[in-house]
Amino acid sequence: MINLILFGPPGSGKGTQAQRLVEKYDIAHWSTGDMFRFELSNHTELGQLAKSYMDKGQLVPDEVTISMLKKRMESGKATNGFILDGFPRNIVQAQALDTLLEEKNLKITALLSLEVDEEELINRLLNRGKVSGRADDINEEIIRRRLQVYKEETTPVYNYYAEKQLAVQVNGMGTIDEIFEELCLLIDDRYTTQFVY
Ligand code: ADP
Repeated sequence: MINLILFGPPGSGKGTQAQRLVEKYDIAHWSTGDMFRFELSNHTELGQLAKSYMDKGQLVPDEVTISMLKKRMESGKATNGFILDGFPRNIVQAQALDTLLEEKNLKITALLSLEVDEEELINRLLNRGKVSGRADDINEEIIRRRLQVYKEETTPVYNYYAEKQLAVQVNGMGTIDEIFEELCLLIDDRYTTQFVY
């Protein structure tokens, strides 16, 4: 199984790369942002609750996010593995994930962190906002707030996995194809060495 965490700030390309990786490796894609947007488009209570945080550039409370993901992990099939995209976003979520995976006797293969300059992130998000109309991508102040939350709450998650020798940095500034190729090389390498040692 290939069990990945695709990591990086808003606008770093996680969604784009996850889509390609999911196709290539035939693994499940678990994006908490997509799950919230799905709830929102279905006008559920959970969607409404999430929106009140997303629109301000804040994280949705942990208990809500964790129980939503847990449900999805338990109902979804992930025979060959999975990609987590947008989760874990703080240390509490990382610890909750450890518990969830332990219960299922699963392990993370690697955390792949897409590294992109802040100026480039803001440009990408503003452009995405123009095309998609995503409320949290239109306003520069909200974007800056999300990047701030990322720095303060999410960056420690990288160190959490680095201590377990699972974190790898990837240059997220090239073309989509270049970055994809680099990710595949890293995954293939990690996946093979797991069996060698
Ligand atoms: P991006 O990574 O580009 O900010 P996402 O689609 O991953 O976009 O997430 C959009 C919003 O959904 C976040 O700003 C946050 O409010 C909420 N969200 C997504 N994942 C989580 C999470 N793991 N914990 C809390 N909130 C989350």
